[in-house]
Amino acid sequence: MEEVDKIIVGRYIVTLDESNRVISRGAIAIRDGIIVDVGEYEEIRRKYRAEEVIERGHHVIIPGLVDCHTHTQQYLLRSAISDKMLQLPPIWTKVLVPFERAMSSDLARLSSQASIVNMLKNGVTYFIEAGAPYPEVLAEEVVKSRIKGVVTYATYNIADEKVAESEEVLRRVRNLYERFGGKVRVWMSIRQVMMATEDLIESIIEMSKKYRVGLTLHLGEYQGEVDYTLARYGKRPLEYMLDKGVSGVEPVVIAHGLFLSPGEIELVKKHELGVCWCPTVDAWLTGLHWAGFTNIEGIRLGIGSDGGAWNRLDLLHEVKVAKALSKAMANAVLYFKAGLESTTLLNMATGSRGSVIGEKVGRVERGYAADLVVLNFKSTRTLPAHNPIDLVVNYLEGDDVTDVFIDGEPVVENGRVIVLDENKIAEELLNREDEVRSIIDELISRLKIV
Ligand SMILES: [Zn+2]
Repeated sequence: MEEVDKIIVGRYIVTLDESNRVISRGAIAIRDGIIVDVGEYEEIRRKYRAEEVIERGHHVIIPGLVDCHTHTQQYLLRSAISDKMLQLPPIWTKVLVPFERAMSSDLARLSSQASIVNMLKNGVTYFIEAGAPYPEVLAEEVVKSRIKGVVTYATYNIADEKVAESEEVLRRVRNLYERFGGKVRVWMSIRQVMMATEDLIESIIEMSKKYRVGLTLHLGEYQGEVDYTLARYGKRPLEYMLDKGVSGVEPVVIAHGLFLSPGEIELVKKHELGVCWCPTVDAWLTGLHWAGFTNIEGIRLGIGSDGGAWNRLDLLHEVKVAKALSKAMANAVLYFKAGLESTTLLNMATGSRGSVIGEKVGRVERGYAADLVVLNFKSTRTLPAHNPIDLVVNYLEGDDVTDVFIDGEPVVENGRVIVLDENKIAEELLNREDEVRSIIDELISRLKIV
């Protein structure tokens, strides 16, 4: 009998392995934070001895979810952006970025903590930050909570039609990498091609290559951006970025990517770039995503929340929105009702089984990190459960998560986060509401639409 650290037993295990195996009454053997084996309970018990056996009889176990695009420091804008304000072209230069600039570092810490607590409760074990104004604060909270988070600095030097020198921005990026590079996943980011000068874009790509870290950027996010790069550089946004050498960076994660031409979609495939669809926010702000009705075979597609300002950071909710949107698009354009099906959607919610981020996460399989989410389905809201994958994608949400493990260690137990103080964070969110409100009121007073 082989010794392992723990065995986790579930009514169903959705492995998302190559054959998308679902194991009834399955068990997972874990040693040193890595999955050693997965199979039927009887078989695992015969082969392994563990100090700890965790039994979850009415539960389905899935791989940890990957939020491929989020803004952990926009959380405090929750419920402050009215439906009318959404019309502002574009909302990020009018509200989101100015809010980030006006916020203090301790509010950024609260925002980071609230984001992390909600991600963990919803079974998100890995996230990619699009660019935080206070990335050091976020990095500290990532270390404390043990969530796997890609930390990046809000990297831009054009805002409010003002252009700043790129040197100061690059200094901040370098400092972040030097201070936290060994402790957390520090990547590079570019806010958007319209918010960065050419020399800044070139330097960031160069730094990604030099440090051998990933790069994330908003790209093909809205129509004005396509017009901008065509008018300025004679190329569409992705064509322009490829000219600048972005394909030499590994991995690259494009946030949104709604407005890619058929040729650019081919380039995404060819260069193995990741694309992150944010179903709720993309529908609210821009429109339909081609991922919903085109052949996505071989494309590294992920799902993102776009941050807690817009939703509950619940990727199991996002897959439901994505499914409905996909069917609506495929029906309207092609009269094709199959659209994106459950297994594909669940794969997307794990960052195409980790390939978007280039790490061994997103599968319950030997050699992968033991990042696991346990969901209870013994409820009138979810039973009966004929098909475990449809059960997860169509019926279960973040509220059904009971346990979350990162590298085999618990971070959520009985639906409660055990690595951060949830009650204290909720208390502070209440206590500081007026302070946040005054920042938002000041921003809104400068807008034409309220
Ligand atoms: Zn974004």
